[in-house]
Amino acid sequence: MALLQISEPGGEAARPAHRLAVGIDLGTTNSLVAASCGDKVEILPDDKGRHLVPSVVHYSEDGSVQVGHEARARAAADPSNTIASVKRWLGKSQQEIRQSSQASRYQFDETRADTAPAIITAAGSRDPVQISADILSALRDQAESCLKGKLEGAVITVPAYFNDSQRQQTKDAAELAGIKVLRLLNEPTAAAVAYGLDTEDQGAVVVFDLGGGTFDVSLLSMRQGVFEVLATGGDTNLGGDDFDQAIFDWLQGGFAAKATAIAEQVELRTYAEKIKQQLSADDEVAVEWSEYSGKLDREEFRALVKPLVDKTILTCRRVLRDAGMEPGQIDNIVMVGGATRMPVIREAVAEFFGKQPLVSIDPDKAVAIGAGLQADVLIGNKSAGKFLLLDVNPLSLGIETMGELVEKIIPRNTTIPVAKAQEFTTFKDGQTAMSIHVVQGERELVSDCRSLARFELRGIPPMVAGAAKIRVTFQVDADGLLSVVAEELSTGKKSEIQIKPSYGLNADTIETMLQSSHEHAKQDMEIRAQREAQVEAQQIIDAINAARESDGHLLQPGESERIDAAIERLKQAIQGASSIEIHEQTEKLNRLSADFAARRMDLHIKSLQGESINAIESAEE
Ligand code: ADP
Ligand code: MG
Repeated sequence: MALLQISEPGGEAARPAHRLAVGIDLGTTNSLVAASCGDKVEILPDDKGRHLVPSVVHYSEDGSVQVGHEARARAAADPSNTIASVKRWLGKSQQEIRQSSQASRYQFDETRADTAPAIITAAGSRDPVQISADILSALRDQAESCLKGKLEGAVITVPAYFNDSQRQQTKDAAELAGIKVLRLLNEPTAAAVAYGLDTEDQGAVVVFDLGGGTFDVSLLSMRQGVFEVLATGGDTNLGGDDFDQAIFDWLQGGFAAKATAIAEQVELRTYAEKIKQQLSADDEVAVEWSEYSGKLDREEFRALVKPLVDKTILTCRRVLRDAGMEPGQIDNIVMVGGATRMPVIREAVAEFFGKQPLVSIDPDKAVAIGAGLQADVLIGNKSAGKFLLLDVNPLSLGIETMGELVEKIIPRNTTIPVAKAQEFTTFKDGQTAMSIHVVQGERELVSDCRSLARFELRGIPPMVAGAAKIRVTFQVDADGLLSVVAEELSTGKKSEIQIKPSYGLNADTIETMLQSSHEHAKQDMEIRAQREAQVEAQQIIDAINAARESDGHLLQPGESERIDAAIERLKQAIQGASSIEIHEQTEKLNRLSADFAARRMDLHIKSLQGESINAIESAEE
């Protein structure tokens, strides 16, 4: 007799209606996949029970692809066919990838240099999106075999500092892997969700994420059931590796280890990391390297890494300043990333904020768990309730205006999704086309910002300069992807662009961009004032010249020469003088030509209103 199957009490009974959705932490070093199992979200293990999947891919001659531990094991023997840290390549040009530290062991596919910066592997040419897709496919397989069903969607996390093209490429990779992206979620936001901080009625949360090679701080706010990211900041080149380096240098210098051969250096670096990790558990670590022996204690380590720790706190300070908040106003601090296990970091954070940070969830897993929780809501297994996540755009978005100046349309740290519009006009009489140059960054000059895209709006009806109205609308969706629409308002003529992956961009890190904007704030303001004065002065010169051409007969003897001289002085001021000097000369030219302008005005009013004006005048006489 066949036995009747009875399910376990609890979660299992609800399974049939349960739709399979996962959260994926697609990391630089390691990736994780999490899903809700009954009441809570757990990290899904592979067939050997391991949680972390190294983000490493290996390609074989026979076309087969290995991902994770197996791929990592092959790196030493077959480096040119093993790819690690591909996340650092997303959204980058071939030139930028060639400059990365791991690039030298690969051969690049020159035939794809202009489209996608691919490398040649035993299994054929592969670009960063395809390589990321291979990792995601493996994670999908792992999830499906663990959950015994077909995956319906995933929430994938990305660093807060990812720009539009990096986000788009992450999405492209997921689609290529046959994964429906429910949403891209900022990593720190996911971590805060893992701690359940979204269920509190009110509060400000700082997420402090110090990984292997990157640092990321986010300020989140929970208000009236809405979880919002108020500000973000960080450094893409600061992480646990730098702490290893500090110990490495100490070993090389003071400790006289002097490793010179590459292989020896690699070994010493690994040893430095081991010492660092041991110092998270013990007050003092015995150091043995070839014939030398000694020790490193926490106090000495603290002194070695002080500049690094100070840097992280400086970033926290900056993020708070962006949001106009004080350390004392923060209710919770969430620690994410393996390097936050270091007591020296925890202590500095506790001291700065005046309270202990949250450390109860494994800092490696918090991001994936939060993404898993969010996926469960988005797929419809849980009611959204208060669970409404909003993010911010990390860098200002704007367009180029006259004088190569940037007009910011969506300021940095604006909550997304968002749409904002601003009206612009033509610079020249009869101008029928306008070039829209979309830029990203904090600086005032276009050349100091990242160029994202250019497009044109044509068919503007010819009018005098400044009469046409062109509305430019910026829209950033929940995934941080940008679309820009330019519309001429009298005809409704439109032109638009979606910001697609753009290779060949100068992908400066957000932190460097922010830093340079702080450093150059005063100088930028001066340049902006000068450029605006130059543009205005040129417009006035053009207008006066046009007026002299059409109404030259209204000029009095000698007047044109005096105007010429004033224009000449103004042109000289434009060439380099301060904005004050330009304003002064503009003012002088205005005064000098005021009579002429008045005569023209009279003439035009008379010719426009003709008889009726004459009638009024004669009535007054
Ligand atoms: P990523 O997000 O860049 O993949 P992780 O969050 O996995 O990085 O963090 C990796 C870093 O954490 C490495 O520098 C590693 O040495 C460090 N780390 C892991 N465990 C410890 C520990 N117990 N003490 C100090 N650092 C640690
Ligand atoms: Mg991480």
